[in-house]
Amino acid sequence: MNILILGANGFIGSHLSEAILAQTDWHIHAMDLTQDKLENCVNNPRFHLTLGDITEKKAWIREHVQKCDVVLPLVAVATPATYVQDPLRVFELDFEANLDIVRLCVEFNKRIVFPSTSEVYGMCPDKEFDEEKSHLVTGPISKERWIYSTSKQMMDRVIYAYGKHKGLSYSLFRPFNWYGPRLDNPFNTKPGGSRVLSQFIGNILRGENINLVDGGAQQRCMTYISDGIEALMRIIANKDNSAHNRIFNIGNPNENISVRQLAEMLIANITAHYPKYAANAQKVELVDIDAKTYYGEGYQDVSLRVPAIKHAREQLAWQPTVDIKTGLRKTLDFYLS
Ligand code: UDP
Repeated sequence: MNILILGANGFIGSHLSEAILAQTDWHIHAMDLTQDKLENCVNNPRFHLTLGDITEKKAWIREHVQKCDVVLPLVAVATPATYVQDPLRVFELDFEANLDIVRLCVEFNKRIVFPSTSEVYGMCPDKEFDEEKSHLVTGPISKERWIYSTSKQMMDRVIYAYGKHKGLSYSLFRPFNWYGPRLDNPFNTKPGGSRVLSQFIGNILRGENINLVDGGAQQRCMTYISDGIEALMRIIANKDNSAHNRIFNIGNPNENISVRQLAEMLIANITAHYPKYAANAQKVELVDIDAKTYYGEGYQDVSLRVPAIKHAREQLAWQPTVDIKTGLRKTLDFYLS
């Protein structure tokens, strides 16, 4: 197979590219702005990388959608601080730029594997979010955080409609707090500039206190990247059409922890296993901060976000296998060694 990966240098794209090259004989045609996360891929003869901006290289994209069997448009903004600070950029990139690619897949009859998000469920009160039954609950327009959720939701609906009415072959996957090596740059010093785990690792590396937004009682199901990628590999392979025109939650319901617990685990782990940073870790204080001060007016949070993974279990024979203890150690080995 020929796989087109747009945004191959991202967190998911780089891990997926490595897995494809290691486990299959598929060719990857890739585009990204940079290639710093792709050092394990760039010398492989089955990895064909072009550097560039997907919003500019339209002819290249058209040609490569035509040439490939499966298209993964992974270019998106996915950090909550940006949803609040630059909502139009989120809409333009996550929705508008990607809509062009969805339409090319319709035009050339190509299979698309598109990243939806656990954010689409928003503040849904369900104990477990179900792909087919749960309501998608967002806040008022002035809470700009939801522009990401609703841009993704709209795209899910557009893709679903193209599938139902125009014959598009698609799979949508919804990552639930995937983490691991190469998540974000922990030296990005902007508050909220990266997702929670890399933010906290960065706080400790820089000897800063950790901010717990609204006290850190909100919970997330921390899902290690290799589990996410394994699910994605099965979705792409689409054995027996098992992923055809379906939506999959991909998350680890067994590792549902509060943001405060995550910070505490991190401090304990670094103190015990990384002597170079132990002194920093012990000095760190957990400071409560209200969401408005940390993110601004437009923020609103999700208190519980647990995936139902029945569909992934049944259709893909997939389940998460990496516990938080193991995943954290692997992530810390990457960032701290
Ligand atoms: N969070 C926090 N302190 C930080 C960064 C994030 O308490 O320095 C919280 C954030 O408010 C959210 C959770 O951690 O409730 C997870 O944030 P993340 O950026 O990973 O994205 P989300 O899971 O909300 O999509």
